Amino acid sequence: MTTFSDNLLRADLAMARFASGPVLHRIGGENIASQSTATFDTICPANGTVLARVARAGQTEVDAAVLAAKNAFVEWRALAGKDRRALLHKLADGIVARADEIALIESMDTGQSLRFMSKAALRGAENFRYFADMAPQAQDGQTLRATGQINMTSRRPIGPVAVITPWNTPFMLSTWKIAPALAAGCTVVHKPAEFAPLSARLLVEIAEEAGIPAGVFNQIQGFGEEAGAALTSHPGIKAVAFVGEGRTGAAIMSQGAATLKRVHFELGGKNPVIIMDDADLDRAIDAAVFMIYSLNGERCTSSSRVLIQDTVYDAVCARIAERADRIKVGHPLDPDTVVGPLIHETHEAKVLSYFARAKAEGATIAAGGVKVGQTGHYVRPTLFTNASNNMSIAQDEIFGPVLTAIPFKNEADALQIANDTEYGLAAYLWTRDLGRALRMTDALDAGMMWVNSENTRHLPAPFGGMKSSGIGRDGGDWSFDFYMETVNVCLPTTDHNIPRLGT
Ligand code: NAD
Repeated sequence: MTTFSDNLLRADLAMARFASGPVLHRIGGENIASQSTATFDTICPANGTVLARVARAGQTEVDAAVLAAKNAFVEWRALAGKDRRALLHKLADGIVARADEIALIESMDTGQSLRFMSKAALRGAENFRYFADMAPQAQDGQTLRATGQINMTSRRPIGPVAVITPWNTPFMLSTWKIAPALAAGCTVVHKPAEFAPLSARLLVEIAEEAGIPAGVFNQIQGFGEEAGAALTSHPGIKAVAFVGEGRTGAAIMSQGAATLKRVHFELGGKNPVIIMDDADLDRAIDAAVFMIYSLNGERCTSSSRVLIQDTVYDAVCARIAERADRIKVGHPLDPDTVVGPLIHETHEAKVLSYFARAKAEGATIAAGGVKVGQTGHYVRPTLFTNASNNMSIAQDEIFGPVLTAIPFKNEADALQIANDTEYGLAAYLWTRDLGRALRMTDALDAGMMWVNSENTRHLPAPFGGMKSSGIGRDGGDWSFDFYMETVNVCLPTTDHNIPRLGT
């Protein structure tokens, strides 16, 4: 295990590459500055220093990136699936080889602790391997027979796609979109979030070093309302894969409406963890604590509402509060750090505002509820108790290390509270009663449910949410359904009767 000072030195080395000038766009295999020469700064959440200047794309760079993706699509779609598989495995090898560098840069840019970012980079490689192996079969379809005819379905890549990603675990999240798009035969224009754009730059470099042809994968940096809006309304873009907030998804939907874009949205959540009194409470508490306080709570599937049966509510809350109080908040590169700084001062201000609101709404702050230090956007892991589901702390996606604990009486009460939210991304259920688990998962409004488990992922399983948490599913073949068009060819096996008009 490396020490904190080792990590600081290693991070300085990794960041040195950004010192020489603005991080440029990567379009058609070339570094491209913005025609306007506009740039923006990316700031380290740990200490407020400027990490890098970044080129800020406008319409000209978006046009150039879409044109590069359009031109490259002709050859990329024609490449045999097994050749795409080989290239994407090489890309995954490149990620593994540079996983440390990716993790260090991502920790500095996002404030996420290094212990979690190292794993996230490797998970990015796994995403590429998984979809690489599916590339050769991606175009395969079905044979559907009827009397007198055979129908043959197949799939073909939809065309150049836009991938728009948020600032939380940006590297891993972007691979979850870019890997299936490339495996399907689509070309990509990626716009990472303006708050944390640096690790995305490494991904495009690794892809090109692996032999992905110029123009197949392009990257532009910029602001959502400017570069993002231009990209998602561009006629050359056939589909938009977006991860971020619901209101941004709504904007993207309207921006893409005139050109009838296909959209895939992974949005926010206010995910319940239901703890019944028959549960293995030790494991339930471990999972609830992990799923809200890891990754700074800046996680779409975080367990941000814990619903606890009233018979065990006080005891479970006391244990969670004790654990929250012991969690180390600190610099993201300190190996002991669990919770690092929040991404940005505006996000910190949002999270802090809920401490005052919790009190005003009548909840109790059982742990945390305070900012830490004067420099950097650090807050203590927080637990609100004596909360009810109509409070803003139970309804709003706070997106920080902040947990709201709500008591319930029985199964029906738990389900009513769990579903009483605009979101429907994930739900976690803890009970030893199998029948109850089946009944309750049948009734929970969530795209993904875990019983007696934290968020363990299986890449072929569907990932996505219902209600305001998203549209569409990623994972397995669901990803290919989004990035590909299904077509059908009907062939007759007999001469069927054709109505003769005009005879
Ligand atoms: P955001 O919506 O503010 O930004 C996401 C991206 O959209 C950024 O790249 C931004 O520049 C871009 N964008 C903003 N306005 C745009 C516009 N008008 N047109 C095109 N692009 C635009 O989200 P964020 O604050 O970066 O991320 C946090 C949110 O992401 C949370 O709500 C979280 O739950 C969600 N999220 C969801 C999942 C999931 O899988 N469901 C995963 C991670 C994060």
